[in-house]
Amino acid sequence: MINPVRPAKRRISILGSTGSIGRNTLDVMSHLGDREAFEVPAITGKDNIDLLVRQARQTGAGFAVTADPERYNDLKSALAGTGIEAGAGPAALIEAGLRDTDLLLAGIVGIAGLAPTLAAVAGGADIALANKECLVSAGDLFTSAMAKGGGKLLPVDSEHNAIFQVLEENQRQAVERIILTASGGPFRDHTREQMAAVTPELAAAHPNWSMGVKISIDSASMFNKALEMIEARHLFDVRPDQIEVIIHPQSIIHSMVGYCDGSVLAQLGVPDMRHAIGYAISHPRRRNLPVERLDFAKLARLDFTAPDEIRFPSLALARTAMQRGGLQGAILNGAKEAALEAFIAGQIGFLDMADIVAATMDRLDDGRAAHSIEDVYAADREARAVAVAVMRESA
Ligand code: NDP
Ligand code: MG
Repeated sequence: MINPVRPAKRRISILGSTGSIGRNTLDVMSHLGDREAFEVPAITGKDNIDLLVRQARQTGAGFAVTADPERYNDLKSALAGTGIEAGAGPAALIEAGLRDTDLLLAGIVGIAGLAPTLAAVAGGADIALANKECLVSAGDLFTSAMAKGGGKLLPVDSEHNAIFQVLEENQRQAVERIILTASGGPFRDHTREQMAAVTPELAAAHPNWSMGVKISIDSASMFNKALEMIEARHLFDVRPDQIEVIIHPQSIIHSMVGYCDGSVLAQLGVPDMRHAIGYAISHPRRRNLPVERLDFAKLARLDFTAPDEIRFPSLALARTAMQRGGLQGAILNGAKEAALEAFIAGQIGFLDMADIVAATMDRLDDGRAAHSIEDVYAADREARAVAVAVMRESA
């Protein structure tokens, strides 16, 4: 009798497993078969050691890393006797990215996600990419590293995942435009006067999606959409003028592709990140996912309006960054991070954020290109420092 061959387990490492994207990924994996189906070479977190330890035990991870070197002893002692290796700090994050894996889910928030993700890219892993900075701050470097590494790039950001789903591989030449949908956030209908007075708590309360704090506030200012425009440019190799944004408050259409024959293909679903994550980690298959199904009769209508670029200047800033090219994406992002931190700390108003980013981009508009990851990190640091100086000058 021939023994039935057990299919090899798929290896998935998760950078940022303790975050919103990371937790959703583990939830999808447990729905798709958990330890029978998957092996987890590495997971990483930062402050939430208890959760990292629980996740490591549940998945039987090979290597668990906290980004914070001061938490190494806590992590190591909590994992004692499990056979799971502990690591801490930036070098250990890169080591997590280098561990042999079939797919790496890049779910660290911020520029800290760049180096460990690039390590996995160089190793040839497929990358399910949630982290935005890899493309916004280092788009050219990242896409050429992907081409060299030979892995597949699977977008997890819901808009780009939608576009990826409806972009016909053999029709790339026929793409006329990419249409990114945006919920418009909690201040969609606010006047500029009302927006000037909003608090970080109000800005963090997203009407449709449940996400980390920073990305929720970025959604309220539409800086999130600005980052997504730059992501789309690199992912789908389109010109800036081919990228449109439309406000669609229900977040049911996750984005669209317009072709040269006038057809528009859209991907629809309930706003639940497990859709995009499940699609990315199952690709090229489609698998049964634990997400609510759309009920069109209940939905009844879908609305669309053009974004108001006076109230949301971040969209124009993205176009400027794309036109200038080079390190302007990294500069936009670094300045935005500094302004966002100052807004969260109550030091500046909501509308000040875009002014600070614009001023920083202009001051650092010297045509520099990114030749290495160090150039990107240096531009990020410089943009933050210039943004802080701009804030001090205008205080
Ligand atoms: P969260 O803030 O919920 O989670 C971030 C993760 O990164 C956590 O695991 C956190 O660890 C870890 N982390 C935080 N700081 C550092 C650091 N300096 N170095 C290494 N690791 C760190 O973010 P989200 O899950 O919401 O977002 C993750 C990424 O995905 C972001 O880039 C976001 O823009 C993008 N994204 C998110 C979406 C969403 O729905 N949430 C949608 C589309 C894109 P710990 O919690 O243990 O401190
Ligand atoms: Mg998105």
